[in-house]
Amino acid sequence: MSVIPENDVVASLDAWRDLTALQQPTWPDAEELAAATAELAKLPPLVFAGEADGLKKQLADAQDGKAFLLQGGDCAEIFADATADRISNRIKTILQMAVILTYGGSMPTIKMGRMAGQFAKPRSSDKETIDGVELPCYRGDAVNAFEFTAEARRPNPHRMVDAYHVSSATLNLIRAFTTGGFADLRQVNAWNRGFLANNSAYRRYESLAAEIDRAMQFMDACGADFDALKTVEFYSSHEALLLDYERALTRIDSRTGKAYNTSAHFLWIGERTRQLDGAHVDFLSRVENPIGVKLGPTATASDAVALAAKLNPENEPGRLTFISRMGAGKIRDILPSLVEGVTNEGVRATWVTDPMHGNTFSSPNGYKTRRLEDVLDEIRGFFEVHRSLGTVPGGVHVELTGDDVTEILGGCSEIDEAGLERRYETFVDPRLNHQQSLEMAFQVAEMLQNR
Ligand code: PEP
Ligand code: MN
Repeated sequence: MSVIPENDVVASLDAWRDLTALQQPTWPDAEELAAATAELAKLPPLVFAGEADGLKKQLADAQDGKAFLLQGGDCAEIFADATADRISNRIKTILQMAVILTYGGSMPTIKMGRMAGQFAKPRSSDKETIDGVELPCYRGDAVNAFEFTAEARRPNPHRMVDAYHVSSATLNLIRAFTTGGFADLRQVNAWNRGFLANNSAYRRYESLAAEIDRAMQFMDACGADFDALKTVEFYSSHEALLLDYERALTRIDSRTGKAYNTSAHFLWIGERTRQLDGAHVDFLSRVENPIGVKLGPTATASDAVALAAKLNPENEPGRLTFISRMGAGKIRDILPSLVEGVTNEGVRATWVTDPMHGNTFSSPNGYKTRRLEDVLDEIRGFFEVHRSLGTVPGGVHVELTGDDVTEILGGCSEIDEAGLERRYETFVDPRLNHQQSLEMAFQVAEMLQNR
C-alpha cells in the first residue's frame, strides 16, 4: 500500500473549497474570516486521534449488536447555557439514561453528547422577516446571535473562536465528571439528586438505582475490584456544518500521518448537506474519525450505498453510521428497503434512529413541538424493521436537555398545548426534558431486552 505524503493529505483537506458548500453563512468580511480561521488553526485540539479510534471500535461493536449508542443533547447549544448547572444536568441525564439502557437492556451503552461543539444550524431560509424587517436568519451561536437586530444577526466569524472556547470549557467539565469519580456507578443514586422528584419516571429510576446499589454491595462483599467503574468514556459530537471551523480544527495525527477532525470525536453530515458531490461529503471523506450521515424520507438505498462508497471506501467497521430520521408514520414503510439495499451490497454501517426530526410540527398556539408518543413510536418502528430484516438496531440519537423545560408534548407529567407556554426555551428544535428522557430510556431498554 502506498503511503500518501503528508503534504498531499493536507492539500486534500481543502478540496471542498472547489465544491458546492450548502448552508454556509454569508460572511460579510473575508479578512475577518481569515483572521478567525488562522486563530482557530493555532489552538490546541479538543479531542485526540486515539480517542476517536477508540470510539470507532465501540461503534463497530454497536454494528454487531454488542453495544448500543446513546447520542443526545441540545438541538443547538448556546453560549449562555454553558453554565456548571446546565452542563452537569445534561451529563447526568445522559448517564442516567445510559445506566437504564445498560442495566435494563443488558447491553454496554456508548455515551455520546450532542455537546461541546453543536453551535451551528442549517436553516430553511437565509433570511428572516419580522414586521417588514428582513435580517439574516439565526444560524447558531457560532455564527450570530438570536436577538432580532441587525447587529446581533450579522454573521461574525470570531464567534467560531468563541464556540471553540465554550466547547473547550464544556469538554473540560465532561472530562472532570466522567473521570473524576462522579460517573462512578456507585453514584447512581446521586445522579437524580437536584431534579424535581415525585413522578413515575423518577420512582422507576430510584428503584432501579436501589437495585444496582444492592448488586454493588453484594459484589463489594465478594471482594470485587471496582476500579473499572471509576471512570466512564463519554464522547463529543456535533453536525459538521461550518466547514471553515471544521477545517481549522482538522490536524495531522503524529502517530499515523493521517487527518483527524479534532473538534469532536464524532461528526455527522446533516440531511440538508449530504449531496454526494457536495463539500461536506468530500471534507468528511478525508478525516479518520467515525462519522454519521442523516437519512431522511427521500433517501434511497442507492444514495446510501453511494455515500458509503465515498465515505468508507475500505468498508471499515465503525467508521460509518447511518442516522435515519423518517417520521413515525413513515419509518415502517421506508426504512426496510433502505436497510435491505445497503445490506445486500455488503456495506458495513451502524444503524441509528433519530426519532426527533421527522416528527416536528407547529402547535396551534405557535410552538414548534413534537409528541413523545410519536418519538417512541418511531423508535419502536426502528426496532421492528431491524427485527424483521434480521439486522441490528445500533442506537438512538435524540434532542434532550437536563432541565425541566416544556417543549415536547406528553410524558408522565402530561404536557399539553397550553403547558408548552410554561417553560419553552429552545431557539430551534424542541427537546425532551429530564423526565421525558428517563421515560424514553426505560422504553428503549425494554425494546433492547426484546430485540
Ligand atoms: C439536527 O440534528 O438538529 C438537524 C438539523 O437534523 P437533520 O439534518 O436530520 O434535519
Ligand atoms: Mn434539531
